Amino acid sequence: MIGTNSSIRAIPAPERHPENVPFWEGSQAGRFMIRRCTACRRSHWYPRPLCPFCLAESHWEAASGRGEVHTFSIIRRPDMQPYCIAYIRLDEDVLMLSNIVDCNLDAIRIGDRVQVVFKAAVDGTMVPMFTVI
Ligand SMILES: [Zn+2]
Repeated sequence: MIGTNSSIRAIPAPERHPENVPFWEGSQAGRFMIRRCTACRRSHWYPRPLCPFCLAESHWEAASGRGEVHTFSIIRRPDMQPYCIAYIRLDEDVLMLSNIVDCNLDAIRIGDRVQVVFKAAVDGTMVPMFTVI
Protein backbone atom coordinates (compact mmCIF):
# COMPACT_ATOMS: atom_id res chain seq x y z
CA MET A 1 0.00 0.00 0.00
CA ILE A 2 1.39 3.38 -0.96
CA GLY A 3 2.26 5.66 1.93
CA THR A 4 2.73 3.03 4.59
CA ASN A 5 5.79 1.14 5.63
CA SER A 6 5.97 -2.58 5.28
CA SER A 7 7.75 -5.44 6.92
CA ILE A 8 8.20 -6.92 3.44
CA ARG A 9 11.44 -5.01 2.88
CA ALA A 10 14.31 -7.26 3.90
CA ILE A 11 16.73 -5.71 6.38
CA PRO A 12 20.33 -6.59 5.49
CA ALA A 13 22.38 -8.30 8.17
CA PRO A 14 24.48 -5.65 9.93
CA GLU A 15 28.26 -5.86 9.94
CA ARG A 16 29.55 -7.11 13.26
CA HIS A 17 32.76 -5.92 14.86
CA PRO A 18 34.18 -7.08 18.21
CA GLU A 19 34.08 -3.56 19.67
CA ASN A 20 30.32 -3.33 19.04
CA VAL A 21 29.28 -6.62 20.66
CA PRO A 22 27.57 -4.77 23.58
CA PHE A 23 25.54 -2.76 21.07
CA TRP A 24 24.13 -5.84 19.34
CA GLU A 25 23.63 -7.74 22.61
CA GLY A 26 21.66 -4.74 23.84
CA SER A 27 19.56 -4.70 20.68
CA GLN A 28 18.76 -8.39 21.06
CA ALA A 29 17.53 -7.59 24.59
CA GLY A 30 15.51 -4.55 23.46
CA ARG A 31 17.95 -1.92 24.72
CA PHE A 32 19.36 0.82 22.50
CA MET A 33 23.00 1.20 23.50
CA ILE A 34 25.09 4.32 23.04
CA ARG A 35 28.42 5.41 24.48
CA ARG A 36 28.94 8.22 26.98
CA CYS A 37 32.20 9.89 27.89
CA THR A 38 33.46 9.23 31.42
CA ALA A 39 35.05 12.74 31.57
CA CYS A 40 32.86 15.32 29.78
CA ARG A 41 29.71 13.12 30.11
CA ARG A 42 28.57 13.79 26.54
CA SER A 43 27.04 10.95 24.52
CA HIS A 44 28.09 10.30 20.96
CA TRP A 45 27.20 8.34 17.85
CA TYR A 46 28.56 6.22 16.22
CA PRO A 47 29.97 4.26 19.15
CA ARG A 48 33.68 4.86 19.73
CA PRO A 49 35.89 3.85 22.66
CA LEU A 50 37.34 7.37 22.88
CA CYS A 51 35.14 10.43 23.21
CA PRO A 52 35.15 12.44 19.94
CA PHE A 53 34.91 15.69 21.95
CA CYS A 54 37.68 15.29 24.52
CA LEU A 55 39.37 11.93 23.72
CA ALA A 56 38.67 10.48 27.17
CA GLU A 57 37.37 6.93 27.64
CA SER A 58 33.70 6.27 27.03
CA HIS A 59 31.40 3.54 28.32
CA TRP A 60 28.25 1.82 27.08
CA GLU A 61 24.88 2.74 28.50
CA ALA A 62 21.25 2.11 27.56
CA ALA A 63 19.77 5.21 25.91
CA SER A 64 16.19 6.34 26.44
CA GLY A 65 15.35 5.19 22.92
CA ARG A 66 13.42 8.42 22.40
CA GLY A 67 14.15 11.42 20.27
CA GLU A 68 12.83 13.46 17.39
CA VAL A 69 12.98 13.56 13.61
CA HIS A 70 15.82 15.88 12.58
CA THR A 71 15.31 15.36 8.84
CA PHE A 72 14.09 12.53 6.64
CA SER A 73 13.62 11.25 3.12
CA ILE A 74 11.06 8.78 1.78
CA ILE A 75 12.48 6.46 -0.85
CA ARG A 76 10.04 5.30 -3.51
CA ARG A 77 11.13 2.82 -6.15
CA PRO A 78 8.94 0.76 -8.44
CA ASP A 79 10.49 -2.52 -7.29
CA MET A 80 10.01 -2.19 -3.53
CA GLN A 81 7.77 -0.84 -0.81
CA PRO A 82 8.46 2.80 0.08
CA TYR A 83 10.63 3.34 3.14
CA CYS A 84 11.90 6.24 5.18
CA ILE A 85 15.51 7.09 6.02
CA ALA A 86 15.87 9.71 8.74
CA TYR A 87 18.33 11.50 10.93
CA ILE A 88 17.07 11.09 14.49
CA ARG A 89 18.25 13.33 17.31
CA LEU A 90 18.06 11.26 20.47
CA ASP A 91 17.15 12.86 23.79
CA GLU A 92 20.78 12.14 24.71
CA ASP A 93 21.68 14.75 22.02
CA VAL A 94 23.23 12.40 19.50
CA LEU A 95 22.33 12.54 15.83
CA MET A 96 22.05 9.22 14.03
CA LEU A 97 20.93 7.88 10.69
CA SER A 98 18.16 5.30 10.92
CA ASN A 99 14.83 4.26 9.46
CA ILE A 100 11.31 5.27 10.47
CA VAL A 101 8.92 2.32 10.32
CA ASP A 102 5.44 1.19 11.41
CA CYS A 103 3.66 4.45 10.66
CA ASN A 104 2.14 6.44 7.80
CA LEU A 105 5.21 7.68 5.96
CA ASP A 106 3.28 10.56 4.40
CA ALA A 107 2.46 11.93 7.87
CA ILE A 108 6.07 12.14 9.11
CA ARG A 109 7.20 15.67 9.93
CA ILE A 110 10.46 17.19 11.14
CA GLY A 111 10.28 17.45 14.92
CA ASP A 112 7.97 14.46 15.37
CA ARG A 113 8.71 12.49 18.53
CA VAL A 114 9.98 8.97 17.89
CA GLN A 115 10.65 5.82 19.90
CA VAL A 116 13.09 3.04 19.07
CA VAL A 117 11.67 -0.27 17.82
CA PHE A 118 13.70 -3.35 16.96
CA LYS A 119 13.28 -5.14 13.64
CA ALA A 120 14.76 -8.51 12.66
CA ALA A 121 17.37 -8.47 9.90
CA VAL A 122 17.64 -11.38 7.48
CA ASP A 123 20.10 -13.13 9.86
CA GLY A 124 17.87 -12.62 12.92
CA THR A 125 19.87 -9.73 14.35
CA MET A 126 17.55 -7.17 15.93
CA VAL A 127 18.21 -3.78 14.35
CA PRO A 128 17.11 -0.55 16.03
CA MET A 129 14.80 1.69 13.99
CA PHE A 130 12.29 4.31 15.03
CA THR A 131 8.56 4.87 14.91
CA VAL A 132 6.57 8.08 15.40
CA ILE A 133 4.83 8.29 18.81
ZN1 LIG B 1 34.42 13.61 26.50
